[in-house]
Amino acid sequence: MIITKRRDVKELQENIKDYKSFFLLGCSECATLCATGGEPEIKALKEELEKQGKEVTGSFVAKTGCQVLGTKVELKKSSKEALDKADCILVMSCGAGTQTSVELFEDKPVYPTNDSLFLGNMTRMQMFDERCSLCGECILDGTGGICPITACPKGLLNGPCGGTNEGKCEVSSEIDCAWVRIYNRLSKINRLKDMEQIVEPKNWASHRKPMNLNTREKASSGKDKPV
Ligand code: SF4
Ligand code: SF4
Repeated sequence: MIITKRRDVKELQENIKDYKSFFLLGCSECATLCATGGEPEIKALKEELEKQGKEVTGSFVAKTGCQVLGTKVELKKSSKEALDKADCILVMSCGAGTQTSVELFEDKPVYPTNDSLFLGNMTRMQMFDERCSLCGECILDGTGGICPITACPKGLLNGPCGGTNEGKCEVSSEIDCAWVRIYNRLSKINRLKDMEQIVEPKNWASHRKPMNLNTREKASSGKDKPV
């Protein structure tokens, strides 16, 4: 899931100072789980805006805010009038959800209320850990399923480095060394021989932005496309 956090209120106030009426759009998936774009957060922002003398013409929690077509259909059915009345749309989801609104409302200003931080796993309620950096060429098969690109601050493909100390990382003693974790995991599953494989440098050039994938036709990604 995409991990988001609420932006600084002052930053939002500066962005919206020229507008009077707002439509608030949340997302029932990641932003709801991060408590940045579900019903309670929409209610809180509505109250905040109204205290500042602004009008909230309506709000909606999209099922999946980054799904352009689905969100378009939902909003058309539920919120057309409220959207028409609003000067500005505030999107309480990730940056992808914000850009759904930019695509749907070409003639209205759209502002994010959140910062999008990383792709994360929810380990407990409201606790998130980054586990994958979306590198495009997964190497988990040789690392016992632990990602060194993400879990090692240096992103070492072969490790550990010389700084590992009693299982901890030299960058921060609060972090377990990713490569010690990988070693221990491989040991437990009788795959220590995988440590002997040297991982070649990744071809980062193949991870060009913007990536895309069309699974309806032949699968393709940014790396297959001309720059
Ligand atoms: S190697 Fe790590 S960053 Fe790359 S896809 Fe796999 S889990 Fe994600
Ligand atoms: S100590 Fe381990 S986790 Fe830290 S930078 Fe070195 S290899 Fe990576």
